Amino acid sequence: MEYRMLIGGEAVAAKSGETFESVNPYDQQPWARVPRAGPEDVDTAVAAAREAFTTGPWPRLTPTERGRLLRNLGDLVASHAEELATLETRDNGKLYSEMLTQLRYIPQWYYYFGGLADKIEGMVHPVDKPDIFNFSHHEPYGVVAAITAWNSPLLLAAYKLAPALAAGNTVVLKPSEHASCSTLRFAELFALAGFPPGVVNVISGFGPEIGDALTGHPDVAKITFTGSATTGRRINAVAGQDFKSVTLELGGKSPNIVFADADLDNAANGAIAGILAASGQTCVAGSRLLVEDSIHDAFLERVVAIARTARSGDPMDPATNIGPVATKAQYDKIRGYLEIAEAEGAERVLGGTPDPDPAIGKGWFIEPTIYANVTNAMRIAREEVFGPVLSVIRFRDEDEAVHIANDTRYGLAAGIWSQNLKRCIELPKRLRAGTVWVNTYRAVSYMTPFGGFKASGTGKENGIEAIRQYLQLKSVWLSTADSFSNPFTIR
Ligand code: NAD
Repeated sequence: MEYRMLIGGEAVAAKSGETFESVNPYDQQPWARVPRAGPEDVDTAVAAAREAFTTGPWPRLTPTERGRLLRNLGDLVASHAEELATLETRDNGKLYSEMLTQLRYIPQWYYYFGGLADKIEGMVHPVDKPDIFNFSHHEPYGVVAAITAWNSPLLLAAYKLAPALAAGNTVVLKPSEHASCSTLRFAELFALAGFPPGVVNVISGFGPEIGDALTGHPDVAKITFTGSATTGRRINAVAGQDFKSVTLELGGKSPNIVFADADLDNAANGAIAGILAASGQTCVAGSRLLVEDSIHDAFLERVVAIARTARSGDPMDPATNIGPVATKAQYDKIRGYLEIAEAEGAERVLGGTPDPDPAIGKGWFIEPTIYANVTNAMRIAREEVFGPVLSVIRFRDEDEAVHIANDTRYGLAAGIWSQNLKRCIELPKRLRAGTVWVNTYRAVSYMTPFGGFKASGTGKENGIEAIRQYLQLKSVWLSTADSFSNPFTIR
């Protein structure tokens, strides 16, 4: 397969002609060639987006017409869901069943924000001055740079594109170099949906090679990013030079807290969903399992028993629970954390070796791994592993659970398992995390805000408020006074 980028409505190769291979994590075979954009391609893509924003038909469309195009796009994603999900699985090795579920859900983002496009209302302000009519309204920023991670390319793109386009911006979208193909194929749907050329441009390439050129480009007004805290920090620094608005969705080290009064069967499934779903390669992974002392041993046994039943294998096979991790670098990083955990004295109760069964395939498989007797000071409890590796930490009471849960630089998500109504209502208020799930885990919706506290990011995606990330507020003053006198005082 040979892919093209989308710039100014044209399917193009990189100007240099360079490409790179996409490798299937399951069989470790290259299966596609992808354009390797350079800074010159960034310039062309930003120029196309800038032109579409200022002079093209896009700024003259009514918000209702923008909404209609977004709904067309949603329909097209729905009718291409199987194809796009297959590309994602080939690219990042995640289960086809997971990617297909995402792809079938993604159209809702385009329908929801398409519906919101013509409901962005301004306000008339009753100012304390005579002869003045004052109102404010929301305006798009202009060119938005949208940068996504490899783990859920088109879902993360939908979080960004749907509100950015509904608000009237134009976009340069850059998927991860580790999973570009579904986004490049998706790019072909914009013309079919009726979007004018240049409104959405998609470039592929390596973040370290073109990231600064994109985020530092003088014609990029807004940056929306999903990825690691390390890259988020770099983007913030570059964007800060020109005081650009940024939305950053970063990593996490989320606590999943199980109290003795929980429904323990549900909680055990919740613990597994938190760490083994997507082979642990999810930003909201419940990678720290906090368990109340009195149930610790029995609960751990339950979790280990379920984890043992998880089947590693071909991510296209519906019977598979655990696919390979996405890249060799990711595999090596996780292996490194297993060594760190052992050296720190964590007690391995499951896994910890590369999956020894050759029958499951040649891919980068990591066995589900569980460490007990972890303290919150260990690196395995403090750093994002991004793999199927669970750290189990004991706590005495609610106060200690809250202390451990909040004792992290991250603040993306948290889980609580309890049947005590008061606790279920009061405890979420004490947790420093952008999302708290109570007796469930890893639920997301286009209708509900999502985003991190602390080092997990800034800004929110999803829900009505998300559209504000792509709008700036302008205040307009009109005077009906007959004279404009005394220019030397404030009015
Ligand atoms: P990453 O930071 O390595 O890469 C993310 C994207 O940034 C890629 O497209 C990459 O090419 C680009 N990039 C790299 N350097 C850049 C630079 N200097 N300037 C601009 N762009 C640059 O992250 P990853 O390994 O692809 O993804 C895994 C991370 O993403 C994990 O930390 C995970 O928690 C996080 N994540 C967060 C969320 C969320 O919503 N909070 C969702 C999914 C993943």
